[in-house]
Amino acid sequence: MTYDVHIIGGGLAGSEAAWQLARRGVRVRLSEMRGGGDTSPAHQGTGLAELVCSNSFRSDDSDRNAVGLLHHEMRELDSLIMGAASVAAVPAGSALAVDRDVFSAEVEQRLAALPTLDVVRERIDTLPAAGLTIVATGPLTAAALAQSIGNATGAESLAFFDAIAPIVYRDTVDMDVCWMASRWDKGETKDYINCPMTRAQYVAFREGLLAGEKTEFREWEANTPYFDGCMPIEVMAERGEDTLRFGPMKPVGLDNPHQATAEFPNGRWAYAVVQLRQDNKLGTLWNMVGFQTKLKHAEQVRLFRTIPGLEQAEFARLGGLHRNTFLNSPQLLDRQLRLKSAPHIRFAGQMTGCEGYVESAAVGLMAGIMAAAELRGNDWTAPPRTTALGALLAHITGDAEADSYQPMNVNFGLFPPVDPSVKKKVRKEAYTQRAKSDLVFWKSAITA
Ligand SMILES: Cc1cc2nc3c(=O)[nH]c(=O)nc-3n(C[C@H](O)[C@H](O)[C@H](O)COP(=O)(O)OP(=O)(O)OC[C@H]3O[C@@H](n4cnc5c(N)ncnc54)[C@H](O)[C@@H]3O)c2cc1C
Repeated sequence: MTYDVHIIGGGLAGSEAAWQLARRGVRVRLSEMRGGGDTSPAHQGTGLAELVCSNSFRSDDSDRNAVGLLHHEMRELDSLIMGAASVAAVPAGSALAVDRDVFSAEVEQRLAALPTLDVVRERIDTLPAAGLTIVATGPLTAAALAQSIGNATGAESLAFFDAIAPIVYRDTVDMDVCWMASRWDKGETKDYINCPMTRAQYVAFREGLLAGEKTEFREWEANTPYFDGCMPIEVMAERGEDTLRFGPMKPVGLDNPHQATAEFPNGRWAYAVVQLRQDNKLGTLWNMVGFQTKLKHAEQVRLFRTIPGLEQAEFARLGGLHRNTFLNSPQLLDRQLRLKSAPHIRFAGQMTGCEGYVESAAVGLMAGIMAAAELRGNDWTAPPRTTALGALLAHITGDAEADSYQPMNVNFGLFPPVDPSVKKKVRKEAYTQRAKSDLVFWKSAITA
């Protein structure tokens, strides 16, 4: 069969994109290397949309949780992944968890029933020079294709592992303790939030980093290199008592105005500082600069809340370090997930720098609908940014800071803030109600 769109990678994103296209009558070739003699270090079988680790799609609460809201929006758009998940669901409280074999078999069966879709078990080694293409080869993209993508994007724009620093919601930082200043007080603009530490606090914090329980690299990740700027904070702490104070926690030049006196009207330097830098254009998310870490998540929350000013911090993302192939999407992709330098190629799934099964499938869903619209000569109208789909898309295609771009889960910090007069207790409901009604309008506009 000749085809209109070539999708490379039959994981969560590629399968969803194929479904969205073929359901609209588009002729699709879906190339998946597993089942054709190849595999990845994490996949076990040959099934499409294999879940490589946990069997959970996380919270299914669409009224109070951003990923639950994403489930809702995907169901509204006839998502394959959500449809198969409901068939394969197992009891998991308010979470959506599945029997992974039933889930993958259901995805395969639904795709096999589509007459305009060919699933071909083959590995693709180079980016196609022409023809509408969706690349959804995931965090473990096979080496030759990764090389070809690196050639097209510039190697420095394609990462092979992530180095994720925690991200804090701005409105949970205590500015009676912290203050704004430039990095190490150089430069004109006061772009960084500074959290000050006394010597005793610093020593206790460093001990916490050293003692804290860490996650281990998987066997095939063991050779993950650390670049200078990406060394885990706890590894840096091991190098000596003052290494952090001469590195990411350097206090030099940072007068703490909360300590102003007649003698020191600008305040004094703290013994050490933790600096936070804005991570999205909305200014709702701030990342802890230099704090990439392999500490276990619960340990991160406990320890980072001992930092002065972050006692009540809520985290939109916690730190991590994994093998992970992903693009600097805010720089490389246009608002429709197309490579600016080769617009016949779209990217979808975790390669775009979203993180997680659901987010990957959601980006695949949007890539499929976008490609279908493009083939029909229709303009694509993006989902409103007030929806989970729109917020995620806006973040990865330009709203995230390209300089510090790292994989991101969906979270309310990506959404335009709701009216600040809405009480904190019901703020999540305010986000989800607004999203649900805006999605209804958008859906009727795109299907009209
Ligand atoms: C080890 C590991 C554990 C993870 N655990 C979780 C978790 O518990 N929960 C969670 O939400 N997320 C997890 N993730 C993150 C991520 O969300 C998943 O990896 C998700 O599957 C990404 O979806 P995707 O469609 O982008 O990629 P994948 O689902 O990985 O799909 C990519 C597909 O492309 C194929 N492929 C690769 N290269 C080629 C090629 N050259 N030609 C043809 N086919 C190719 C692969 O075989 C694969 O089937 C994990 C990631 C990793 C690596």
